[in-house]
Amino acid sequence: MIDLYGLTRAELGALLASWEIKTAHVGRLWNYLYWECVDTLAAMTELPARLRRKLEAHCTLGVLPVAAETHSTDGYTRKLLLALPDQEKIETVLMRYPGRVTACISSQAGCAMGCVFCATGQRGFMRHLTTGEIVAQVVHVQRLLKANGERLRNLVLMGMGEPLHNYDAVMKAVDVFRDAAGLAIGARKITLSTVGVVPGIRRMAEEARPISLALSLHGATQEERLKLVPTARRWPLDELMDACRYYMEKTGNHIFFEWTLIEGKNDSAEHAHAVGRLLGGMDAQVNLIPLNPTSGYDGAPTRSEAAKRFQAVLAEYGLPSTVRQRRGIDIAAGCGQLAATVR
Ligand code: SAH
Ligand code: SF4
Repeated sequence: MIDLYGLTRAELGALLASWEIKTAHVGRLWNYLYWECVDTLAAMTELPARLRRKLEAHCTLGVLPVAAETHSTDGYTRKLLLALPDQEKIETVLMRYPGRVTACISSQAGCAMGCVFCATGQRGFMRHLTTGEIVAQVVHVQRLLKANGERLRNLVLMGMGEPLHNYDAVMKAVDVFRDAAGLAIGARKITLSTVGVVPGIRRMAEEARPISLALSLHGATQEERLKLVPTARRWPLDELMDACRYYMEKTGNHIFFEWTLIEGKNDSAEHAHAVGRLLGGMDAQVNLIPLNPTSGYDGAPTRSEAAKRFQAVLAEYGLPSTVRQRRGIDIAAGCGQLAATVR
């Protein structure tokens, strides 16, 4: 069976053509999938009967059932635990900020990268998600928003998993998100966050992928970074920075550098100076994320005064920075807290 969420519009066109069905119907079908966001094939009542029979016989709509749903007490964050067909589970988070809604989606069940402070990494790797499973998360969110007369415009690939470790499936999903006749999410409104998979960053540059790129840095020397990010062994910092510079040159895009602020570990003025020396002069912006609690890592978040001092040092190097608002911590929906276990 073919998961309709796993196909680009061109692939859907080819499928219909292979059934000798007029490609004129692709638009109507795409509309059902990504505008009306119907949740069953049976709801596609206006398609020609022969097409409906073909779809019922050969295709599925990979809607992911909600295994649990939690809302943060501040009312801004909603976390969905979604069940995959093989009973693996993933999490998708909906975050409200003034005037906008952002969905944070997963690219893998678990993660193989093992960053010490991340709940997903602490659980290990289960499997890659298919394109259909990545797309289904966004359609689910859009369906919820649509019921309120809203539309999803911002998307971050910052949920469970390392997106560049599942490159092909992720990029095909991105093509579906961007399709102007469907979800129509602007390329710059889609942010992919990576731990620093060098070949993936280089490939994004080669393919001139216009989405926004965020890089999880956390340490500004190879030695410091390796303490937090084990994959720094495979892709050392100098190779990573070369890939970042290559990406910036090729695409003309800037990069967001993410820095989880851990009290007493990587949050001193010296650490900030090291970031400044590494990134100063680059078209970079730093997103500081005070550590969120996870069961497998015993560290504390940097307090706000220390975070401000860190930012002041970065500013000396001409580096703009922001401190990420803490959201959804009470329901373990914050950065790095997604473990897909029912709590
Ligand atoms: N695998 C990708 C994207 C998912 S993680 C990546 O690592 O970039 C999304 C962001 O959350 C990353 O910047 C990651 O370093 C950060 N993060 C992980 N655990 C965290 C924690 N406990 N507290 C704060 N941020 C965390
Ligand atoms: Fe994987 Fe990202 Fe977590 Fe590291 S921070 S373990 S790369 S999800």
